[in-house]
Amino acid sequence: MNMHEQMDQAEKSILHTYNRFPVMFDRGEGCRIFDTEGKEYLDFAAGIAVNALGYHYPGYDEALMEQIRKLTHISNLYYNEPMSRAGEKLIKASGMSKVFFTNSGTEAVEGALKAARKYGFKKYNGEKYEVIAMEHSFHGRSMGALSVTGTAHYREPFEPLIGGVKFAQFNDLESVKAQITDKTCAVLMETIQGEGGIYPADGEFLKEIRTLCDEKDILLILDEIQCGMGRTGDYFAWQGYGVKPDIMTCAKALGNGVPVGAFVLGEKAAAISLEPGDHGTTYGGNPFVCAAVSKVFDIYEENHILDHVRELTPYLEEKLDEIVDQYDCVSARRGKGFMQGLVIQGIPVGNVVKKALENGLLVISAGSDVLRMVPSLVIKKEDIDEMIMKLKKSLA
Ligand SMILES: *Cc1c(COP(=O)(O)O)cnc(C)c1O
Repeated sequence: MNMHEQMDQAEKSILHTYNRFPVMFDRGEGCRIFDTEGKEYLDFAAGIAVNALGYHYPGYDEALMEQIRKLTHISNLYYNEPMSRAGEKLIKASGMSKVFFTNSGTEAVEGALKAARKYGFKKYNGEKYEVIAMEHSFHGRSMGALSVTGTAHYREPFEPLIGGVKFAQFNDLESVKAQITDKTCAVLMETIQGEGGIYPADGEFLKEIRTLCDEKDILLILDEIQCGMGRTGDYFAWQGYGVKPDIMTCAKALGNGVPVGAFVLGEKAAAISLEPGDHGTTYGGNPFVCAAVSKVFDIYEENHILDHVRELTPYLEEKLDEIVDQYDCVSARRGKGFMQGLVIQGIPVGNVVKKALENGLLVISAGSDVLRMVPSLVIKKEDIDEMIMKLKKSLA
């Protein structure tokens, strides 16, 4: 079967919830990926910010293989060594207190919401339960995470969703204040909005929210699923702001491609929180995925991945700013580190994404008009040059 016949075959059995691009991928190498017909693509999408170390980073496959030969899954009824190692490394990287491993981002958000509700339940006899989330946010597709996702058309077909959720404008302190009541138990936001169109939080806004939350004993939940794990040059984007959350969610790059997420509690949230019987998962944090998480942290440390992101970011930003200057259809750049968006005007962003694909460059869209780049963190200067060349060709 050729690639197009294989794609038709897939459509026969797979529920059509995605309008997929007409390409079927076969294998990857570094920051390059190849389709089933052997065509090479420079990958600036990285499985939507997942493959932070690219494909087949030295030592990564071997660590997974070694764990497969020992144990892939047991149950959370028992201890496993990779989980304890992965937990310790995540605590060290974040300076937070306790971790719960999940299978995905949306489940990390579910857990964060449950932890916040439990805090309000125990400390305030259930009188604090409201969550303030942001417009244009994205937190996942399960019912709880969907309830706090700030895009009405994602939510509407599935209502009624969970109650006690209010929306405020991101980066607008007054609009958050207007939603706060005696019942507010948490404020939830992405440190850098991803799906909504690559909007970083304003430093002042985030600091003021932190102060407000401290004053009123409201938990600050930061969703670091997309912007975390080194993408901004810090392990977590909030570290670059100097604002620490009470609860953080994490996933995507955490395991570099194995399905794993986590919610992480700071001391205050951990002190009054989920207890035996309150929460669980069959797969979450199994030895296989945790071996990956643990290896990811080792590779970051040994190979100075964060330093590399910091060093190369000015070059990436400079090159993208040149594109903004040179092309009328590109009106602005937004982002931090290796999480960048170009605002496209006058032409549908989808057309640029398709052209780029034809030209052997993988990029994705975000929001209605943003071209998103979330490459692996191991790209080199030459890869940026190649991306710019292919992008120019696609914009012409
Ligand atoms: C991708 C994403 C999620 C959802 O993660 P899944 O693994 O797809 O469930 C939640 N929050 C943010 C910020 C994300 O980017």
